[in-house]
Amino acid sequence: MTITATVQPIHLIVSPECLPALHKLRIHTLLDLLHYYPRDHVTYHGVTIPEARAGDQVMITGKIQQHRILTPKNGRLTVQSWIVTDKTENAIRVTQFHHGSSYQSEQWRTEQHQFYRAGRTAIVTGKVRQDDYTRALTIEATEVKVADLAGKPAMTKDNLIQPIYALTKGLNAETLRDCIRAALDYSELTDPLPKKLRQHYDLMELSQAIAHIHFPSNPQTLSAARHRLVFDEFFYLQLRLLKRRAALKQVQREALSTPTTLLKQFYIALPFKLTGAQQRVIDEILSDLAKPYPMNRLVQGDVGAGKTVVAVAAILAAIQSGYQAALMAPTEVLAEQHFHKIAQWFKSLQLPVALLTGSTPTAQRRVIHANLRSGQLPLLIGTHALIQKAIQFDRLGLVVIDEQHRFGVQQRLKLQQKGNHPHVLSMTATPISRTLALTLHGDLDVSQIDQLPPGRKPVLTRVLTEKQRHQVKRVMQRNLALHRQVYVILPLVEQSEKSDLQSAIAAHQTYQQQFSQYRVGLLHGRMSAEEKQSAIAQFRDHQTHILVSTTVIEVGVDIPNATVIVVEHAERFGLSQLHQLRGRVGRGNAQSYCLLMNTSTSDEARDRLKVLEQTQNGFVLAEVDMQLRGTGEVLGTAQAGLPKFALADLINDAGVLEQARKAAELVMQRGSCLQCWNDLVAEIHRRDRHKLDDGSTLN
Ligand code: ADP
Ligand code: MG
Repeated sequence: MTITATVQPIHLIVSPECLPALHKLRIHTLLDLLHYYPRDHVTYHGVTIPEARAGDQVMITGKIQQHRILTPKNGRLTVQSWIVTDKTENAIRVTQFHHGSSYQSEQWRTEQHQFYRAGRTAIVTGKVRQDDYTRALTIEATEVKVADLAGKPAMTKDNLIQPIYALTKGLNAETLRDCIRAALDYSELTDPLPKKLRQHYDLMELSQAIAHIHFPSNPQTLSAARHRLVFDEFFYLQLRLLKRRAALKQVQREALSTPTTLLKQFYIALPFKLTGAQQRVIDEILSDLAKPYPMNRLVQGDVGAGKTVVAVAAILAAIQSGYQAALMAPTEVLAEQHFHKIAQWFKSLQLPVALLTGSTPTAQRRVIHANLRSGQLPLLIGTHALIQKAIQFDRLGLVVIDEQHRFGVQQRLKLQQKGNHPHVLSMTATPISRTLALTLHGDLDVSQIDQLPPGRKPVLTRVLTEKQRHQVKRVMQRNLALHRQVYVILPLVEQSEKSDLQSAIAAHQTYQQQFSQYRVGLLHGRMSAEEKQSAIAQFRDHQTHILVSTTVIEVGVDIPNATVIVVEHAERFGLSQLHQLRGRVGRGNAQSYCLLMNTSTSDEARDRLKVLEQTQNGFVLAEVDMQLRGTGEVLGTAQAGLPKFALADLINDAGVLEQARKAAELVMQRGSCLQCWNDLVAEIHRRDRHKLDDGSTLN
């Protein structure tokens, strides 16, 4: 029987007892079973009995001499044992343990005895053990198969590579392997990838790849199979992202006129000249806005590259064309800062702007609501407060999301839905590697501000120990004397907010004592929004000289007169996060300093921090961070939308991702025959469904 439609439910080939366990693993169809890849493989070396050594993983082929089943009276553990002799005429005992009551039925015992009749040839895989007292060797079997009967393992001359699966209660390894073997025998897979593409990228055919990921005949076929399936994981994701990008371009909206007046006035009012990179990115954005479909662009630029001005240019273009704009930032501190700066610029352009956060008083809120609805307010800046139901725009044409990685997919979407397909501009300073960028933002157009404003000097970075604290004091004294300002950062451990608070207050006191001729401000997460804003404002207005702060300061804060940042317990931070923190200084033309206090005694921690002394390149740091801590850690939980891969690894399989992206682009550009396209889309949907089942989303 060949079941071509692999969406067939598994009960066709699987015994009913296993169904609940398989369902628990989200295996419902033959195809699910085939795509349930092993988490690892073990290689059993084919040996003769005299060659077997304690501890080895071996495969032995020999004749069954004796077969026994022992079921201890009250026990739930059933032991099966065989005596097997091979061509060398030597004998060895083989044992296998079975847990659970299904192994205690008379029927099962009878079947087993029938199957393992003396004289039959058995292929045994397992680990060799030596009895502590008798010194006798036995094989603890993972599988005992009878040669020449159905279900015999794929075998090579010498070795057998066996899959290891993630299991669940009620399903043992041997049963699952048998189910998968049966699924392989009974199904006929058609490969949705066009043959040409497969050939071009030298990919194993799908049914081959599936067969060999489970039961590889040798390490080479295993690696080729894995390569193909990793390619698939990336390819279908990229195709999905590109498809979404193409779909957006089908949405019709009014193209914005090429605006000039407001922008020109803005440029004149700016106290500096735009960098080439800023100008280029602004041009890219303006050309997006002039198209008859919505923009969906991500602006990447290292900390301090000057993303805010670029956003404002886009906002002015939208306003000039008669639209409203919204700018959303992840923290009140940052929203307030944007408002502060942009309000100044807008004043000279005679444009109103409002700030809306969780702490905006009700009366003010009402005025904002009314002015938004009437269209009198062209720009609203704020936090998540912007996505509340009550907020309605008259003509929202542009949405800007600052530090977009801090927002969830839903939050971003909610803001967009306040307009009729508005243009979307996302900004991020998180320098992520190209592989991550493709995975996360493969559906966006990306612009890079790859140049810092002129005159910026690299921030002098030093990793110091407690013994070297006098250096901290010296650097601080020198800069304070030059009327510059200092940040002191304390780590925040979420589990114990209280003790953090205490440590922030204690540090504040210590610094105040040490620098008694200066004023020291304090900023921490437990303060009300108002208190926070006032702490920042005092520091910005130079009423305080030193600001002791927990990491609330991390994102986007821009106070160019601050030239020193001291990070206490720097070893508790990730490299990318430290790089963000370092970005709080070096924002003007004066030499700035980043002093990382390392309280850990491990060499590893020190070496990791030392990387910051060597490079100012956020991308390099992100890459190192990713390799040291894994992608999830680096992105944090806030980074929604990072898909889970069954096999692929974003670091080690980066090359495959590049290929998969190219292949997906080719398919999108060239188009393919309708049937091929339908097959590809069906595969995207199949993968989505499975992902969604999983509770995760592909956003
Ligand atoms: P980020 O990219 O981190 O958001 P900001 O937009 O906050 O950076 O800009 C950092 C600082 O650099 C701000 O003080 C800003 O006014 C200033 N700045 C931006 N562009 C330029 C430029 N072309 N020349 C000089 N200073 C600039
Ligand atoms: Mg910024």
